[in-house]
Amino acid sequence: MRYSKLLIPTLKEMPAEAEVISHTLMLRAGMIRKLAAGIYSLLPLGLSVTKKVEDIIREEMNRAGAQEVLLPAVQPAKLWKESGRWEEYGKELLRFKDRHERDFCFGPTHEEVITDLISKEVRSYRQLPLNLYQIQTKFRDEIRPRFGVMRGREFIMKDAYSFDCDEKGAEKSYKKMYDAYCRIFERCGLKFKAVEAETGVIGGSFSHEFMVLADSGEEGIIFCNSCNYAVNIDRAEIRIEEKRDEGKNKEEMKEIKKVSTPGMKTVEEVSKYLKVRPQDLVKTLIFETENGIIAALVRGDHQINETKLKNFLDCTILVLAGDETVREVTGAPSGFAGPIDLNISIFADHGVKGMHNFITGANETDAHNINVNIGRDFEINGYGDIRNVKEDDKCPRCGKDINIRRGVEVGHIFKLGTKYSQMFRATYLDSTGEERFIIMGCYGIGVGRTIAAAIEQNHDENGIIWPMSIAPFQVLILPLNTNDTTVMETSENIYNSLIDNNMDVVIDDRDERPGVKFKDADLIGIPLQIIIGLRNLKEGNIEIKIRRNGEEIGRAHV
Ligand SMILES: [Zn+2]
Repeated sequence: MRYSKLLIPTLKEMPAEAEVISHTLMLRAGMIRKLAAGIYSLLPLGLSVTKKVEDIIREEMNRAGAQEVLLPAVQPAKLWKESGRWEEYGKELLRFKDRHERDFCFGPTHEEVITDLISKEVRSYRQLPLNLYQIQTKFRDEIRPRFGVMRGREFIMKDAYSFDCDEKGAEKSYKKMYDAYCRIFERCGLKFKAVEAETGVIGGSFSHEFMVLADSGEEGIIFCNSCNYAVNIDRAEIRIEEKRDEGKNKEEMKEIKKVSTPGMKTVEEVSKYLKVRPQDLVKTLIFETENGIIAALVRGDHQINETKLKNFLDCTILVLAGDETVREVTGAPSGFAGPIDLNISIFADHGVKGMHNFITGANETDAHNINVNIGRDFEINGYGDIRNVKEDDKCPRCGKDINIRRGVEVGHIFKLGTKYSQMFRATYLDSTGEERFIIMGCYGIGVGRTIAAAIEQNHDENGIIWPMSIAPFQVLILPLNTNDTTVMETSENIYNSLIDNNMDVVIDDRDERPGVKFKDADLIGIPLQIIIGLRNLKEGNIEIKIRRNGEEIGRAHV
């Protein structure tokens, strides 16, 4: 390809709309342009990377025995009403009517369509197992699309669905996909972790998320250095340390006292003011749920995890109460809530158990209680694991040190069981002629997200540094003096011979200053640069540079 003929509209300035580095660099490198909120056009470089990622996915899916199909993006409401998700999915589902006033949606996922298809086409155990996949455009009407293609509304996704006769087969299919996903992300040149995850709205029995490690990642993940424990932060169990407060257990209950804490609302402010440690405080948080208002207690140095609290309470709605509700329930503004004399249920994290003579809000403006004790001063309705893991927590499996990192979710695999096959009566006849439900799994990879995650993990202050396998081009030839015939002839010769050797190569034949070419070269991140300048060429040399470390790997003689 010739740079002069390609549409690569690079930008010098930081685009104002971008919040994360991958978004900034995709815009600056001229890979994407925004059409509407969360909806992007892929320009030549963006599409080239997309196709490379898709090719890797396709090869590994085929190798794992999956077959490619292409299902419609537009889906009739009828199927979604059958699964109950027409209501359940909410506003993320983009709905519209055709000319006959029939309801349709733009598919955010394809469980309904594929299960309906299989229920009609599969009759016998002889047709199973099956794994069908597609690479296709999906639409989810995110309330707040952001981070460019990372959280767009329209996006390209690979989704696969497996169909098996029994649990054993389903687990085998799941394992195959797990292995295929590992190979896919390895081949994309990414550092990633497969973590045990929540199943969320799709439902099912267990699942793994594939997370590309990047500081800018939206999700917190925990993993152990010593064993293979790796989970999403919302799922991380806390290792309960016995005897932590044994010494304190013997402590006598002191007399409860109200102390003045003018304007001191946060744990930090109160502990500093009262000259105590944050872990001597207990935070009281008021939440609204569909079953009423509750209070949740965590130790002062701990953070509540709302997903864990939600699971513990077994509720579907959980919102931190606003100032007005807090005042109604506690009689004081936020920041001074405490558990004493509350007329609502109180739940506490395990970490609060065994605490004595601690500090809480006094349910009164500018006041806290000291020497508060469970049992004497108030009762707890239940203890649970409802806080975030901390750096100094230990692995719940083996007790060794853990890592807390951030990641970008690029893939997700679920073992679905019979949830959808029951809804759509997707059954088969077993070898004895008995009718059974097909057991399903579903497996997704966000193609755009994988690209964004690759950039989050591979960039420097000058631009993108593509892993070779997904780079839009492998080699960039930079003739520095376009008016010089020797420079251009040499460049063209190298260009042609690389093409003859099946390399993906682009030549920057633009009549631009070397400085401009170098800047663009680093920004678009082609892994290998071949620099051909008049001065070097006079001595018969060309320069070969690796983008990743700027290292000059050699001067080739020509
Ligand atoms: Zn461990």
